Amino acid sequence: MHDSDTENDEGLRDFVREVVRADLDAGRTQSVVTRFPPEPNGYLHIGHAKSICLNFGVAEEFGGRCNLRFDDTNPTKEEQEYIDSIQEDVRWLGFDWGEHLYFASDNFEKLYEWAVHLISNGKAYVDDLSAEEIRNYRGTLTEPGKDSPFRDRPTDESLDLFARMRAGEFEEGARVLRAKIDMASGNINMRDPVIYRILHASHPRTGDSWHIYPTYDFAHGQSDAIEGVTHSICTLEFEDHRPLYDWLVENLPVPSRPRQYEFARLNLSHTVLSKRRLIQFVEEKHVSGWDDPRMPTLSGLRRRGIPPEALRDFAKRIGVTKNDSVVEMSLLEHCVREHLNKTADRRMAVLNPLKVVIENYPEGSSEELDAINNPEDDDAGSRKVPFSRELYIEREDFMEDPPKKFFRLAPGREVRLRYAYFLTCTDVVKDDAGEIVELRCNYDPATKGGTAPDGRKVKATLHWVSAAHSIPAEVRLYDYLFTRADPGADGDILDDLNPDSLTLLDGCRVEPSLADSKTSGTIQFERQGYFCIDRDSTADELVFNRTVALRDTWAKIQAKSG
Ligand code: ATP
Ligand code: MG
Repeated sequence: MHDSDTENDEGLRDFVREVVRADLDAGRTQSVVTRFPPEPNGYLHIGHAKSICLNFGVAEEFGGRCNLRFDDTNPTKEEQEYIDSIQEDVRWLGFDWGEHLYFASDNFEKLYEWAVHLISNGKAYVDDLSAEEIRNYRGTLTEPGKDSPFRDRPTDESLDLFARMRAGEFEEGARVLRAKIDMASGNINMRDPVIYRILHASHPRTGDSWHIYPTYDFAHGQSDAIEGVTHSICTLEFEDHRPLYDWLVENLPVPSRPRQYEFARLNLSHTVLSKRRLIQFVEEKHVSGWDDPRMPTLSGLRRRGIPPEALRDFAKRIGVTKNDSVVEMSLLEHCVREHLNKTADRRMAVLNPLKVVIENYPEGSSEELDAINNPEDDDAGSRKVPFSRELYIEREDFMEDPPKKFFRLAPGREVRLRYAYFLTCTDVVKDDAGEIVELRCNYDPATKGGTAPDGRKVKATLHWVSAAHSIPAEVRLYDYLFTRADPGADGDILDDLNPDSLTLLDGCRVEPSLADSKTSGTIQFERQGYFCIDRDSTADELVFNRTVALRDTWAKIQAKSG
């Protein structure tokens, strides 16, 4: 399906794929069915991308299918906005669930019927203990739990109470339905887990028709079974829930018998992958929204200019294991640079402009020079860039009194202007405060295209834009959202927010082709990094987000100071 990914596809081997292959080979599974089961209580983040790539990837590789299922069993936190954004994000990442879009809420009637089935068979009971009492009765890791005084209430009484719970007769928290398993089990999840609770909340899909909602554990496995999921792949924190998953499948007349497998979740340095935290940052306005380019959400990464191919490549490189670990953010950046180096068109942009006047270039005239779009891709072709007597170069590309290793422009020194001519600085113009405001230069008309007929060399090539033809832009530079690799590890996570995570550069000048609507996707500003146009752009000013710098300056600075 993804042509650009095929180079890595051969090598994909991990324990999940081994299980699936073995099940297919042994005929235990005819056709693999997986699912990606988000709860619509927030936007997806890059951790979810790992799960999406695994579930959809396995289905694709083994000729099966992957369902998108919303685990929408907690109406107090779920919203249509999240349902919509999740679908958009999964599609953007490059996956398609076809007809197979499901909602746990579509199964509410069936789940209710199965809960009644459990009660009727003496395997569930209505409990009147409060949430706190249930907790106290549950015991600890070292002590067994105690039976609830309601555990042996007659079946008919439980059936009656459960029906009345459904009808909305009781307050929230007044009663719950519990599976009757084993209060002495070594696994706390098996100590009569709650499978239904009363919630007088309006649901995004079922409205006000329910007053009771199934818990995750009750809804999840049964939804898997209804959908015919063969391999229910989830993260390690559900390992201890597997006995309950299996118990429910055993004790209910479900149409299929899915099995659960657990893998280690993605942890990424310098950020947090938890919807609860991400919601907090949005609500407390530490970021501009879910799609703030500093957020690890898929919508944030997209707005940042990170291509989905790079995320899929990242998912492949980190692999799938059962060992918890933290992946360095620099690996993600590496994947992004690798992909963009091959695919991104090059453009010239001056972020901190210094005016250059070429005194021997005829006043009032200009010309169009050929510039290569992508040296890594011959098919990308070339474009015209206007050149004239007045240009902007990067302020940091000039030094009046350069130290030894500075090879760029300086008084009396010759450099190359990319795709244009050799240029020599003849004079420096300053304002009253002594600040350099302009350079006077000469160019050599014989060096058009950037080579001298007499073979003389220069040590630097600078990017530039024509002053009159260039267009103004604001550029947003992003750094890590947190100053430490493990935010929150040593106290309040908010104390670790990076105060310099966003730097706004105003008054930048970019080459005119960037106003062209054909310029889309992420591009490379030569010598600077990768950037994409932000939706905050207006007719008067383009706004660019820096996706990633060309090299990892952060890691270098840290290496030096540490
Ligand atoms: P969060 O912890 O961010 O709130 P969640 O697990 O509650 O996430 P769900 O909507 O339940 O979010 O997740 C959908 C699927 O994505 C689940 O199967 C879950 O295991 C998986 N998933 C969530 N976070 C990660 C992660 N960091 N790495 C890999 N898979 C993840
Ligand atoms: Mg969850």
